[in-house]
Amino acid sequence: MNQDIKEVLISEEALKQRVSELGKAISERYKGQELLMIGVLKGANVFMSDLMRAVSVPIQIDFIAASSYGSSTESSGVVRIVKDLDYSIEGKHVMIVEDIIDTGLTLKYLYDNFSARKPASLSIISLLDKPERRKVELTVDYTGFVIPDEFIVGYGIDYAEKYRNLPFVATLKAEVYTK
Ligand code: 5GP
Repeated sequence: MNQDIKEVLISEEALKQRVSELGKAISERYKGQELLMIGVLKGANVFMSDLMRAVSVPIQIDFIAASSYGSSTESSGVVRIVKDLDYSIEGKHVMIVEDIIDTGLTLKYLYDNFSARKPASLSIISLLDKPERRKVELTVDYTGFVIPDEFIVGYGIDYAEKYRNLPFVATLKAEVYTK
């Protein structure tokens, strides 16, 4: 697996440090409240697992899986919910936890969908953001790292279901895509 890596963009130490900072900011904002974190499967799984342990207010979790129609590298904006939430979010303080925002189309769809379910509040956190690629306006409350327009893997994020267990965020060598 390591021989496929071109460059480590965000080290394990930098991820730990940033997750800890984000956890403190979230604990401050939601002081005295309970927070429901909704992870967008599968990529946000690792980030959310670390993040929830860095937050000091009571946390509940749920997951949603969405698939976007379109080519494998570009989302079309037509999103289908493959696995819906297990519980109602009405009246709850909800935070959508995403791995990476690219065009923003997936999150925009999820944000609007969740808003209609009448949560007490709704916020967005994404570990990574590629603002250059944005196609829709989106208010992102917390961002881990802003990254350039490069395809990345690791820390939960895959290429063809591989590389999710890398403890850092990295780019892959060009030959990996032609294998
Ligand atoms: P959006 O709807 O914002 O265009 O797409 C977001 C989704 O595209 C992410 O949740 C992720 O699944 C996928 N994605 C966007 N950029 C990358 C990337 O650099 N690497 C990987 N592996 N997936 C990405």
